[in-house]
Amino acid sequence: MTDHVQGIGVPPATTRGDEGVETVLSGLAVSGGIAIGPLHPIDTGQFGIPEYDLAVRDVETETARFDTAIVRAQREVRVLRRKQRNMPAGAAEELGYILDAYMQMLSGSRLVRGARARIESKRQNAEAAMRDEMDQIARSFEAIADSYLAARAEDVREVGWRVIRILTEDRRNPFTTIPKGAILVAESFSPADTARMDPRKVAGFASVLGGAQGHTAILARSLGLPAILGVSDMSRYAETGVSAILDGMEGRLILNPTPDTLRRFKERAQELTKERRRLAALRDKPAQTVDGETISLAANVDLPGEADVARVAGADGIGLLRTEFMFMNRDSIPDEAAQVEQLSDIVAKMEGRPVTIRTIDLGGEKMAEALGDTLDGATNPALGLRAIRLSLKKPKLLEAQLCAILRAGAVGPVRVLLPMVTTPGEVRQVREAMKKMAKRLKRRGVPFADPLPPLGVMIEVPGAALAADALAKVSDFFAIGTNDLTMYTLAIDRADEQVAHLYNPLHPAVLRLIEFAVQAALRARIPVSVCGEIAGDPFYTALLLGLGVRDLSMSAPSLPKVKQRIRALELSAAEARARMVMESTDTGRIKILLDDLNPMNG
Ligand code: PEP
Ligand code: MG
Repeated sequence: MTDHVQGIGVPPATTRGDEGVETVLSGLAVSGGIAIGPLHPIDTGQFGIPEYDLAVRDVETETARFDTAIVRAQREVRVLRRKQRNMPAGAAEELGYILDAYMQMLSGSRLVRGARARIESKRQNAEAAMRDEMDQIARSFEAIADSYLAARAEDVREVGWRVIRILTEDRRNPFTTIPKGAILVAESFSPADTARMDPRKVAGFASVLGGAQGHTAILARSLGLPAILGVSDMSRYAETGVSAILDGMEGRLILNPTPDTLRRFKERAQELTKERRRLAALRDKPAQTVDGETISLAANVDLPGEADVARVAGADGIGLLRTEFMFMNRDSIPDEAAQVEQLSDIVAKMEGRPVTIRTIDLGGEKMAEALGDTLDGATNPALGLRAIRLSLKKPKLLEAQLCAILRAGAVGPVRVLLPMVTTPGEVRQVREAMKKMAKRLKRRGVPFADPLPPLGVMIEVPGAALAADALAKVSDFFAIGTNDLTMYTLAIDRADEQVAHLYNPLHPAVLRLIEFAVQAALRARIPVSVCGEIAGDPFYTALLLGLGVRDLSMSAPSLPKVKQRIRALELSAAEARARMVMESTDTGRIKILLDDLNPMNG
């Protein structure tokens, strides 16, 4: 999945002829619920340059906007400069000269001065001012028949367009102009894009690309947004304003529904609301099996607002706080103070319930522009500089984050969780860093968690699961990440719709790794939880409990359903069934064994 929303393009005019004709498209059902509303294609494709006269009172703000764009353009050129250093010598030298020229042009040259003067004296908006100044300078170079000056004209245009693009992108953040209640459609939504969707405004979304276990799908579930992904033929039909129904349970996008279809889905949506209310009544009931075993149900939180949802759902704590989302959709990395503020806020909201804060899991499909080109160019991003590997490569990043977590630990109980660990050495390094940061905070006289918080690891790489006994010796707890564990074990990209049908946590290889990791934790007497998506799916509850898991962490909206399943479950039956499952090598039979134990409605 790409890191940007891509336009799905304007459909051919002939599809307008379909107006009024009900059309059903299918895709992967990744987030339940029903959305009814107009389609709103998100398109960051080609666009014209806005052009208007400024009011006198707006000149100052516009100049500041222009200056900010220049600073951003300079930063972009610096990033290119770093990339260029890794190129073969000849090419690096050539590009080096060009980038130096760009940098000079962006540092108070005639281009920048001229454009700013147009804003101030001619009261042109920044984009138009830059375009006119760029055209004037480039044309004056082009007028002289000289190849050197012709090349300079090209440079001026390159720099000018870079600044215009930055200015216009700001203005056209496609997520700020969404009509309330719309169903968003696009070629692809990255996790960072999804994090920008406001569930109070967006009714649901559908895209051509994306798998059911990718972070875009996970966020949709956390935000409670109905979503379907992998809708292959959508680009032919999606047009602004077309009335639509998105069925997140069955994976259908119904365009131009007939009055009868609309009525049926409205009824279904009402039933779902009633069902949600009924489940919400379980909030204060214990998550206890029929034979009296209490299970801890915590929430996975990606965005700060979800802490409130976790509280409303009655979560026992936060079992996985994905801090990487704090680093997305922003120009710069949040400093220690900004991180402390966000984390402390979440910890305070949980009122004494433990918050498991995972260090950044950036890389793979989760990208953060603020990291510049650090993560660019990997052949296999999911196997590259991701998660703990990135944190250990960038000690300043890790140290700031550890300080922030320790400081948030002064507000309430926290645990530190490391993503994508493969060896005990990685845990040792972080433990050392944590001790060093504690000393530093002590010297600074800043309150922080005392004693130091437990340090745990995600078991989400097959190698980590198979070496779980070694990792248990250096870790205070395990959190089993079945999303990545399934992906890496079966070599199936969790975010790729083309192989989504092969993604299966019930594969005996995955189940054996889960069992092995749970057993290693139980032997070492350290807590073990499951925080992958199967923890929030009642279909898997009996199996996980039967395998010895007593802590589950899931997106908050899934909590009531899982609690309902636990309250109807006999642990002894679950254990017996888990044994039968583990003796089976056939995925189909395993599914039947679980279907047979689970009630019809999940
Ligand atoms: C997992 O891999 O199962 C997990 C919980 O982590 P994430 O989904 O953030 O990769
Ligand atoms: Mg993971």
